[in-house]
Amino acid sequence: MRTIGILGGMSWESTLEYYRLINQAVAESLGGLHSAPILLHSFEFQEIADMQRKDDWSGLGTRLAEAGSGLERAGAECLLIATNTMHVVAPAVREASSVPLLDIVEATGEEAVRRGYSRVGLLGTRFTMERDIYHTVFSERFGVTVDIPPDEEREFVHRVIFEELCRGEFRPESLARYVEIIGGLAGGGAEAVVLGCTEIPLLVRPQDSPLPLLDTTALHARAAATFCLGEEVAGT
Ligand code: GLU
Repeated sequence: MRTIGILGGMSWESTLEYYRLINQAVAESLGGLHSAPILLHSFEFQEIADMQRKDDWSGLGTRLAEAGSGLERAGAECLLIATNTMHVVAPAVREASSVPLLDIVEATGEEAVRRGYSRVGLLGTRFTMERDIYHTVFSERFGVTVDIPPDEEREFVHRVIFEELCRGEFRPESLARYVEIIGGLAGGGAEAVVLGCTEIPLLVRPQDSPLPLLDTTALHARAAATFCLGEEVAGT
């Protein structure tokens, strides 16, 4: 098996999911006591969130790139940035290491195409919705248009991520508002919604949603398990 390097702790609530999903996939595939060889660099998330708020993306690029090359020196054969938002600095991480970076946007785009979608909604932090993490890659590479909710709804989705989900709080009233927002995306023509924040799948389950889900945590973890098992991962 190949060793996976995870840049995680952003937040640790979702890193736990990665750890569980990757190990479960490997165990299901190989049986017995098999589990995934994983190296984890878990960041202090307050420091990361403060740097995001200050728009210090170059400092964040340096931090993640250093951590990525540390994981590589320790034996990681691929890297994962276990958050959508921090894919803003994916180029810096890629440049600093020679092992493949399994990209969350690629993993999600491949699945969108596999399921035949041409228009999807996107929920995530303001950074993920408003910066160009998904939009160009989805349209140019996968032929999929990405819609985002209106400003006031983006503010709500963003606030819930940092004030609730990343702190392990899952409130029914926040779920109800997320479901309404997904309903709005459906009304605008989206055929599915990208849960483009690795904590949102902890709040919104398939049975809650008016649209089919593209769960970025699960899709990214699946790509990691595939790599770990020595199989080909698209985009690497
Ligand atoms: N885990 C979240 C994401 O997927 C948000 C935390 C962060 O800002 O990195 O974007």
